Amino acid sequence: MRKSILLLLLFVVSIQVHAQEQSKGSPRIIILATGGTIAGSGESATKAAYTAGKVPIDDLLNAVPQIHNYGKISGEQIASIGSQDMNIATWLKLTKRINEIFAKDEADAVVVTHGTDTQEETAYFLDLTVMSDKPVVIVGAMRPSTAMSQDGNRNLLDAIVVAADPKSVGKGVLVAMNEKVFDARDVTKTSTTDLETFKSKNFGPVGLIYDGKVQYYYQSLRSPLKKFDVTKLNSLPQVEIIYGYADANPNSVYCVTNSGPKGVVYAGMGNGNFNAPVGKALAEAAKKGIIVCRSGRAGSGRITLDNEVKDAELGFVVSDDLNPQKARVLLMLSLTETSNRAKIQQNFFDY
Ligand code: ASP
Repeated sequence: MRKSILLLLLFVVSIQVHAQEQSKGSPRIIILATGGTIAGSGESATKAAYTAGKVPIDDLLNAVPQIHNYGKISGEQIASIGSQDMNIATWLKLTKRINEIFAKDEADAVVVTHGTDTQEETAYFLDLTVMSDKPVVIVGAMRPSTAMSQDGNRNLLDAIVVAADPKSVGKGVLVAMNEKVFDARDVTKTSTTDLETFKSKNFGPVGLIYDGKVQYYYQSLRSPLKKFDVTKLNSLPQVEIIYGYADANPNSVYCVTNSGPKGVVYAGMGNGNFNAPVGKALAEAAKKGIIVCRSGRAGSGRITLDNEVKDAELGFVVSDDLNPQKARVLLMLSLTETSNRAKIQQNFFDY
């Protein structure tokens, strides 16, 4: 009896030593969990119904023990929500915690688990507010953790691979999904249900993940350039998005602009275009001091200044290649520093 207890103890100790040796000198990575389908749970492995954000971080980590081969991994629960409920308070909580982790040297890299619906917005927000060049990698899943052929475990492992790799330092916030790495500024969700949903429509992925390794091919010249200090903020200036469509009624503009926003992003047709009544309503808003930013609903390409639309005359700025939801992020953050239209326009061209 005593001998078998001793053997068991020896076995446990040797496993621990082995685990420690494996992660000796390897990066410390903290996973911050926010919910989403990657933590989603459903009753059937084959049916689509599920609830996002149900599975706690410890269970997610236990499901992929291989992650411990890449570093000293620990997890914290920041939120447990479907990312359709993501909000500015949680963004601020998340970025403040990441900044604290790096300032206090608690980790060498951070991975954020997140729902895919607003993953791109959170990624860009963090890109602009995390004050460190250490890797921050955001990951999600299209199938809940209980589904057959779920993608979350693989994506989580890949995100850890990216976070652990020294080549990921200084690349800004990265999104790891479906064996690809994307720049936070450029990536967008393109399909409601496909596994291959994340794309950078203008520039493509910056890297590929395969067989436990990441290989990089490109780097954005924009992403890591500018940091907004949100340390002392508990909210952001109100910025709303208005959608453009054929025969749009300008009341949709007045409804929004009369609700007190500091800025509006107009998701226009083609190169950020609007019909005459909507254009008039937007110009009135700009005259009142609201920053009106023209973006586009086309899904790729740039919105060009002063071409078909007389931006200088009407008092508008353009989003360059940012889609409406990302233009909103940059506009909210820009408005924390300035309400000068020319400076805000320059932010859209520079960051
Ligand atoms: N609605 C889910 C979410 O964004 C979808 C997903 O994670 O894929 O949280």
